[in-house]
Amino acid sequence: MRNILILLVYVGSACTAPKTTPKGQERIAAGQTSEEAKETTDPAIPQNQADAMPTPTVPVTNTPAPAPTVEAGSLNVQWIAGAANCNQDNNPALQVHAYNKNLVILRQNKCLNFEAPFMYLIFGNQKAFLIDTGATASATTFPLRTTVENLLVEHYGAAQRAQITLVVAHSHAHGDHRAADPQFNGQPNTTLVGTSQAAVMSFYGISNWPESIVDYDLGGRVLKVIPIPGHEPSSLAFYDAQTGILFTGDTLYPGRLYIQDWEVYRASAARIRNFAEGRTVTHVLGAHVEISKTPGQDYPAGSTFQPDEHVLQLKKDALTLLDSELKKIGPTPMRRVLDEFIISP
Ligand SMILES: [Zn+2]
Ligand SMILES: [Zn+2]
Repeated sequence: MRNILILLVYVGSACTAPKTTPKGQERIAAGQTSEEAKETTDPAIPQNQADAMPTPTVPVTNTPAPAPTVEAGSLNVQWIAGAANCNQDNNPALQVHAYNKNLVILRQNKCLNFEAPFMYLIFGNQKAFLIDTGATASATTFPLRTTVENLLVEHYGAAQRAQITLVVAHSHAHGDHRAADPQFNGQPNTTLVGTSQAAVMSFYGISNWPESIVDYDLGGRVLKVIPIPGHEPSSLAFYDAQTGILFTGDTLYPGRLYIQDWEVYRASAARIRNFAEGRTVTHVLGAHVEISKTPGQDYPAGSTFQPDEHVLQLKKDALTLLDSELKKIGPTPMRRVLDEFIISP
């Protein structure tokens, strides 16, 4: 704390231009948390000059910062995992589970599309944020927008819904995560984010792809937007400090991690691991489940019935494991079967 105050006084009166990064962006050195980055004394200030600065009035204490508290939620849910005979399946197109009153998880029915992607709806004070729109375009068979609108009205009330912008965002550009985009296109109080890398960079204000990690404010709830290309060129992770959840799309989930660009993916795995270091990560939530409860055993691609599937959530240490395994494998792509996920270049 003392160093920060000294730095502020110094910068205000010095001719040396402070090092700046674009608004809303932070640069984090490898192995350094953002908090550490903020609290590091500027090495450009000679120590004797810094010592000559006025003594700050805030008392210096050694009391450790309180552990960040996160809003609790429940993942105690039995996800509908398709059906042995989809012709006789009566389950809804979308399964809806409230993690808590401020975050809803949706899953597409496997009988509608085997990908059965998960989608996330995050409520802020000014904006609601939907991550992904699923694998089916038809509003008749897959009424995603109606479902989301109902959830918005339930959360905000009908009158306040009109004051809220629904931001329809994506974990990445693959078709099973944006098929229902047209349902939202041109709708009132709705912003549909593009899926190209250029569109993503422009929308979130990411100038230095993929190194820059930026904030996206929903009103009283700030998401961290972390570029993690490699599975797909415009892949993003979102970190919600309010719940401590890290949303990882198809980059990390309990299933086959398909990799389009090996080296870029390896760098992203390191980036997201470094990001999580020193932060509370309660759950790592991806966009699919393809692995069973039996370690390392996945369902065949295209399965419409996964009666014994792994839970959706992974723990924070999955980030460490993924990065370490990729480092061990090295620059030549290689398949690696682990208990909870399979690296599948
Ligand atoms: Zn994908
Ligand atoms: Zn996918």
